[in-house]
Amino acid sequence: MATAYIALGSNLGNRHKNITTALFHLVREPHIILEKLSTFIETKPYGVTDQPDFLNGCCRIWTDLSPRELLTTLQSIEDKMGRIRTRHWGERNIDLDILLYDDIEVNEPDLVIPHPDMKNRDFVMIPLKEIAPEIAAKL
Ligand code: ADP
Ligand code: MG
Repeated sequence: MATAYIALGSNLGNRHKNITTALFHLVREPHIILEKLSTFIETKPYGVTDQPDFLNGCCRIWTDLSPRELLTTLQSIEDKMGRIRTRHWGERNIDLDILLYDDIEVNEPDLVIPHPDMKNRDFVMIPLKEIAPEIAAKL
């Protein structure tokens, strides 16, 4: 089993419910075990600032899915939840990103792991530090 960290974010609708719903979908996936979950924090939007504040969190999973299969699974959960995509870095009801997948590096056009620039983003690093301080310190 691989260990992966997933970032959870929402800034549209009932943000807390959206993140909880995504987690319900995640735990029902046969190849994913939800192992640890951060608290949810409110954060200011990054990049595009004229949008509502986010609720962000992070979880650790065990999975025997490949990185690409995991991305597809996360995207299918976003789709099931009627993911609304507006502008780049814009508002969304749910965003599920792969932060880390073991020590694996992926550099493909549509999949980059570790997630780019994560160490400079408080909305990623604060929840990650909470559940995996030793990993966050090494980034
Ligand atoms: P954001 O970059 O704000 O998360 P989206 O959620 O719309 O924007 O994602 C845009 C694209 O980012 C996705 O279609 C996906 O292919 C790509 N992507 C690249 N690396 C990752 C990753 N580590 N986790 C999730 N998506 C990724
Ligand atoms: Mg995303």
